[in-house]
Amino acid sequence: MSHSDITPTQATNLIHHEPIYLPTSIQPHGVLLGLSSQLEIGWLSNNTQDFLGKQPRELLNQPLSTLLNAEQVKAIEQFCQHQESSVYSFKLSIQTSKGEQYFDAIAHRTQSTVILELEPTDSINQISFLNFHALVQEAIAKMRTTSNLTDFLHLVVSEVQKVTKFDRVMVYQFDQMGAGSVVAEVKRSDLSPYLGLHYPATDIPQQARELYQRCLLRFIPDMNAQPVELLAVENPETHSTPVDLNLSVLRSTHPCCVEYHQNMGVTAILVIALIKEQKLWGLISCHHQAPKHIPYEVRKMCEFLGQIVSLELEHKVNQSELDYKIKLQSLQADFIESISKADNFREALIYPEPRLLDIVNAQGAAVCLDNDITLVGATPTIEEVRALIEWVDTQITDNLFSTDSLPKLYPEAVAFKDTASGLLVLRISKLRRYYILWFRPEVIQTVNWAGQPNEPIQVNPDGSFTLCPRVSFELWQETVRLTSFCWKSCEVESAIALRNAIVGIVLSKADELAKINQDLERSNRDLASFAFAASHDLKEPLRGIYNYSNVLLEDYAQLLDEDGMEYLNTVVSLSVRMETLINSLLRLSLLGQGQLNLQATDLNNLLCQVIDVVRASRTPAQLDIRIPRLMPTIQCEPVLVSEVFSNLIINAFKYNDKQDKWVEIGYLDIHQQPEKRLQQLQPQTSAPYVFYVQDNGIGIPEHHYQTIFRLFKRLHSQEKYGGGTGAGLAISKKIVERHGGLIWVESCVGIGSALYFTL
Ligand code: ADP
Repeated sequence: MSHSDITPTQATNLIHHEPIYLPTSIQPHGVLLGLSSQLEIGWLSNNTQDFLGKQPRELLNQPLSTLLNAEQVKAIEQFCQHQESSVYSFKLSIQTSKGEQYFDAIAHRTQSTVILELEPTDSINQISFLNFHALVQEAIAKMRTTSNLTDFLHLVVSEVQKVTKFDRVMVYQFDQMGAGSVVAEVKRSDLSPYLGLHYPATDIPQQARELYQRCLLRFIPDMNAQPVELLAVENPETHSTPVDLNLSVLRSTHPCCVEYHQNMGVTAILVIALIKEQKLWGLISCHHQAPKHIPYEVRKMCEFLGQIVSLELEHKVNQSELDYKIKLQSLQADFIESISKADNFREALIYPEPRLLDIVNAQGAAVCLDNDITLVGATPTIEEVRALIEWVDTQITDNLFSTDSLPKLYPEAVAFKDTASGLLVLRISKLRRYYILWFRPEVIQTVNWAGQPNEPIQVNPDGSFTLCPRVSFELWQETVRLTSFCWKSCEVESAIALRNAIVGIVLSKADELAKINQDLERSNRDLASFAFAASHDLKEPLRGIYNYSNVLLEDYAQLLDEDGMEYLNTVVSLSVRMETLINSLLRLSLLGQGQLNLQATDLNNLLCQVIDVVRASRTPAQLDIRIPRLMPTIQCEPVLVSEVFSNLIINAFKYNDKQDKWVEIGYLDIHQQPEKRLQQLQPQTSAPYVFYVQDNGIGIPEHHYQTIFRLFKRLHSQEKYGGGTGAGLAISKKIVERHGGLIWVESCVGIGSALYFTL
């Protein structure tokens, strides 16, 4: 400001040196001077008398040289050439009416103004570099030795506490949303702990956070001290523009901030910003109950320490993230190995138990393989999971779905928010309805605050709350209601990797199976053609044996004695038996060859023909055969299915010693009778009908349920129950299997048997 451009009124004011108040104030522990580019004192704090022994009006509008010596003024002039927002500090002694006074002088520029702040100090001597170095070096050396982030932050608060001697030193960490938590703390033993405390983003407003990024340290030695106003000579220009004191060390405290800390019983604070990747990561916050002065140099040292911590932090955070990723990867590798080795895929996923949860850091999981759901850890109920899968199936893209606030998307989840506010879903196969679901509880369930959550909230007469840690915690809880901790990208990746591995393993297993099937098919074919060739070729010599034996019996009977005749008769009957055996073998080997000729077949007609043939071959022809309801029409090869029914019906009468023998033929309908028993009966098929042939015969002991289907296996001697080759059921089984069906038996010895089959 130069004299030439002031108005007459301003001139009058100048003459009278009548200062006006600027709409700002500072803390009272130092003096603030606002200097024009000519280094004239344009405005100042209304406490110059206390520190400099001069009234504001004696200094306003005066050149800086009224206070400082020529050398000091020159240094400030030089500083003015520096870029804006750089800071220059130096030791200063000023001759006052009270004698020589020492100050720490801190200068910085905002626009065209130089702000010079003077804080009184005991001596003109600076802390020696060596002292400073010794202090910091020790702290740094210790920090480097800790590898884990928690230990590191604990060390940081301890070191800062050592230097500052504050009652409580904490590290606050911000999350992505700006909310924060206390992650490290040292404190006077009689104070209640804040460790683990969470507070909402509003507790430290965005503006304050931005400021911390520009100005790394904030110091308030006494919250309760009366602020000191700034005075200026009236000038419409300076009057209207608020003074930018953002970078001032003496800047006064916002009333909200004062109230906030007063509620905690805190009088002095020192806050150091922790910056990671150019973003405010957290704060080192020091609280003291009584007023506490920290010399400027010590504060600078703390700021420097903060910068070192910031650098090291980046390294530590990255390291701990890396450690976590490595842990996930090793879990993954472990998983994949056991899945690839396991026969039972579900078991391999679930055991050993915590592994499935650890792979994405979840508290609960559900493995869903078709209708079979297995729960691990803390989860909703099976029914809730089943319904959830139905819903998720409509949400899933790329076989993946994740949310950290399920109840907001799926309102039914409010009921199980305690276990599943967060959900991560992998779809392994859509065709087979294979899913893995992971659950995380509502954040609140997982947070323990070391403080006393039961201490009552203070409600003021006007209904407002007094802000205090307890209230902050409650407010924060409101903001995180119905949400879980979010799924980190490395966790989601870990799930995807698991899916890829499972799919890969399943595919390669399928390949393996296909190969085994191919081999089997080939050897089956070989076997069948061998059996065919062998039985075919055997028949001819057998015929020879039979014929020559008969010739012997007829033409040479007189040459043989009784024993000889008997032996020869045995040869004949054995060769007859051998021929039936060979015929069965031939039949069986032929069954394995050629395509099935499927056609729509009315089983009622088919059964009529079968029964006619059976009746014709048996005495008495009066057989009690019951068919309780009409049989369906199905796709099958009628000749083969006739053979099955024929075998079963003949057995039903053959293995029956009752006076009144009967056979019942019918079917169970899966759609009409979805009863449990039926599902147990036909465990692995989805065929619509289960046919049965039931009798009141001798029954089959349970340990023979499988044996009877083996080729040439009989449960009785030749003489009993009319003999047989033991091939009937083996042939029936082959036919059923060629139709893609199953055959099995249920029986009660002495009461009867039921043979079931599907096609
Ligand atoms: P077989 O030609 O001897 O009848 P199958 O293969 O038809 O041969 O039957 C194998 C064995 O199973 C029979 O020898 C018999 O012991 C037993 N079996 C088959 N059907 C019945 C039934 N309905 N009741 C009791 N036992 C049966």
